[in-house]
Amino acid sequence: MDQQRQLETLCVQAGRGVDPMTGAVASPLHLSTTFERAPDGSFPGGFSYIREQNPNRGDLESLLARLEGGVACRAFASGTAAAAAIFQSLRPGDRVLAPNEAYYGTPTLLRESFVPWGLEVDFVDMADLGAVEAALARPARLVFIETPSNPLITVCDIAAICELARAAGAQVAVDNTWATPLLQRPLEHGADFSLHSTTKYLGGHSDAMGGAVVAREESELFERITLTQKHAGAVPSPWDCWLILRGIRTLPVRMRAHCANARAVAEFLAGHPGVEQVLYPGLAGDARGHEIAKRQMSDFGGMVSVEVPGGRERAFEVAARLRVFTRATSLGGVESLVEHRASIEGAFTRAPEGLLRMSIGLENAKDLIEDLDQALARGA
Ligand code: PLP
Repeated sequence: MDQQRQLETLCVQAGRGVDPMTGAVASPLHLSTTFERAPDGSFPGGFSYIREQNPNRGDLESLLARLEGGVACRAFASGTAAAAAIFQSLRPGDRVLAPNEAYYGTPTLLRESFVPWGLEVDFVDMADLGAVEAALARPARLVFIETPSNPLITVCDIAAICELARAAGAQVAVDNTWATPLLQRPLEHGADFSLHSTTKYLGGHSDAMGGAVVAREESELFERITLTQKHAGAVPSPWDCWLILRGIRTLPVRMRAHCANARAVAEFLAGHPGVEQVLYPGLAGDARGHEIAKRQMSDFGGMVSVEVPGGRERAFEVAARLRVFTRATSLGGVESLVEHRASIEGAFTRAPEGLLRMSIGLENAKDLIEDLDQALARGA
């Protein structure tokens, strides 16, 4: 059986399997915060206290480790908590190379919390291998990348960055939220960690929050991430783990539909006279990453950004006219969302004022295209 087939079947059968106590096909939700000790003081079920481990979280962690091809996974309360656990597991004085374009929360977290805490952080254009190599001329402990990136949907070459980082003695963490392990498996390209906001495609229904770090192999840094999870305690609730696992059961069919709809929307917008540029690595004309994406991803994802001429005012006007899309933050759910990123990202944003980011959902593609067409019509 080829790998994609195995991953898809693994997703659909996610969870504990049939519950031996009751025969329940859907896995039970374990809300207990504490677990009984045996008379000798041991924990026969393997669980002692909810912050340390819980059956639903354990199931989610094992599944994500398998989907990413890693040795182990640690689940967190959000994608941001997962990233924070990685940075917190470094030591003051360590140097981090971070992307100059990424989910704005990550550079904000580094700038506002971890630079004062003692990390040295340099922001680098990760799509420019020359710039990455030059930055690695000075010792670094960690290279953090995000591909495809939020919101400019830039693709960077994971294998090439990992090679440069390894030669310089640095470990690499990849934010794989937008691709999911079904479209991209960073650990196979040499990354040490794959990170997720499970709030997005893995949960898939805009109703659960979580994050995860999967490790390719055991390392001192991963041991510290494990301790940070346990001691700092930013862990997900059993209910969130249950919902995310339930979401993963439909991930294969959802990702196929997200990708097909995004391709149809991107192709429509690419030919539209009211559009300045379409950012989507699936378009052959997208010079910023189409060739790399073809190599390192099995499809191009469900996110499309579009820039309209006329800046912020026109972008707001177009977003206000949309009827099928909902104006809201976040992404990866079944419903299509649209957001003007420059206005929410603040001073450090790299999003042009005319850019709208779209999370393409599972509605009929023709309805999405018709909605965009009427919203882009001048004077409508
Ligand atoms: N990583 C990426 C690529 C994201 O797009 C986001 C949120 O949009 C996050 C991380 C943060 O996730 P969370 O909201 O679960 O903290």
